[in-house]
Amino acid sequence: MSNIEAGKVRTRFAPSPTGYLHVGGVRTALFNYLFARQHGGEFILRIEDTDQTRSTEESIAQILEGMKWMGLDWDGPVTRQTERFAAYKSHVDRLLSEGNAYRCTCSPEELDAKRKLAMAEGRKPQYDGTCRNRNDISPDGPHVIRFKSPAEGATTFTDLVRGDMSVNNAEIDDLIIWRTDGTPTYNLSVAIDDAEMGISHVIRGDDHLANTPRQVQLYEALGYPIPKFAHIPMILGPDKARLSKRHGAASILEYREMGYLPEAVINYIARLGWSYGDQEIFSMKELIDCFSLDRVGRSPAVFDTEKLDWLNTHYIKNGDDLALTQAIKPFLSKDSISVEDKDIIVGIPSLKQRSRNLLEMAQGTEYYLLDEIKYEEESASKFLTEDNLPYIKKVEERLLLLDLVSHETLEKLFNEVCEETNTKLGTIAQPVRVALTGKKVSPGIYDVIQVLGRDRSIKRLQSAEKMIKAKPFPAEGK
Ligand code: GLU
Repeated sequence: MSNIEAGKVRTRFAPSPTGYLHVGGVRTALFNYLFARQHGGEFILRIEDTDQTRSTEESIAQILEGMKWMGLDWDGPVTRQTERFAAYKSHVDRLLSEGNAYRCTCSPEELDAKRKLAMAEGRKPQYDGTCRNRNDISPDGPHVIRFKSPAEGATTFTDLVRGDMSVNNAEIDDLIIWRTDGTPTYNLSVAIDDAEMGISHVIRGDDHLANTPRQVQLYEALGYPIPKFAHIPMILGPDKARLSKRHGAASILEYREMGYLPEAVINYIARLGWSYGDQEIFSMKELIDCFSLDRVGRSPAVFDTEKLDWLNTHYIKNGDDLALTQAIKPFLSKDSISVEDKDIIVGIPSLKQRSRNLLEMAQGTEYYLLDEIKYEEESASKFLTEDNLPYIKKVEERLLLLDLVSHETLEKLFNEVCEETNTKLGTIAQPVRVALTGKKVSPGIYDVIQVLGRDRSIKRLQSAEKMIKAKPFPAEGK
């Protein structure tokens, strides 16, 4: 009994390894994954590498890596179509012997000339069936094998996103299923695989919609039960053109390099074409619980980097400190990679409140992980000035007298300096911040001092003072 008859859900992600795993591919994989997990079914990964001129091992490695990073674990071994040629061949032999396929020797030149003529005469360029009823073609000479598509009637199937679909068979010509070079074509291999692998639901991009009637005809000719189909709408860039490399990252792994968290990317991609009321934030578990194909829309989804950034900020803000410590390690600068988790984690609570991605978080650790801080040139010349020297000096002197460094004691300390100099907090905090971190943007100044500790803070204030005295940067506006 097939999975479909048994009511068992089995889905698949079937990428062609001819390029990167991109956002659209991940969304297809995700929807298949969620659907299978929700129904306690199986999700399989099948590499469609029959086009051996365009498929690469590098692309396969990237696909697997991307799936793992996204947490889309599949069931069973990864299958590859190139390992299944014997299965395709035996099905083609069956189609031939049962009269559902035939050999064809029409040359590409002849076909091209007929295609041009049909177009010139305003007809749809279809194969005209020249070889359909010939029985004189030798299996030993060069030929292709075509599927004998039913001439009459209609081919129908139900699409779980688009509803009932029907195509007149007269519109469907006899498809090449086996090439002269002895390799199967896409529609044949995909239909046989889906049937033999017991796929119950074929969820894929709607660019495959036109292939579906052809695949249904193959199932029917081979006597296989027909799976359910769901064609999901495409993803557009902000300019409403199909999402492509020029809209940003080509590969999903580039998002990893840019410092996005996989849970943010998954959450974002899940909402491309699917919705659940107004809810925006979903954990993987919630997605598995809530996902359904009837909430997938028919109109294209538009990619919105701002929303992805918003989600990433959300997941960083609410992330676990230790998990974030691990996650930022690959982004730390060469000089700080040998530091231990316990040293990194001290600054995480304040950094996660203000970072949009892991890259920013890692950059934000430099001030406390590295002994030698680098001053941003612009910030140093603006804030490390002779005018600001007294503020830095006063903070330093008071820190020297402070036994306990806490938010409260530091607040009191800065308030006292404000009163004493009759200055606003910002005017004092900004040069102190640049002196301590090298940057004009950092976690809150009390957090910075607490993370650095009293002695390291004093040392940095002193070296900033020395620097100002030795080579004063011109004060702002002077
Ligand atoms: N290999 C096809 C592709 O990458 C997908 C086939 C399918 O999902 O049916 O576009």
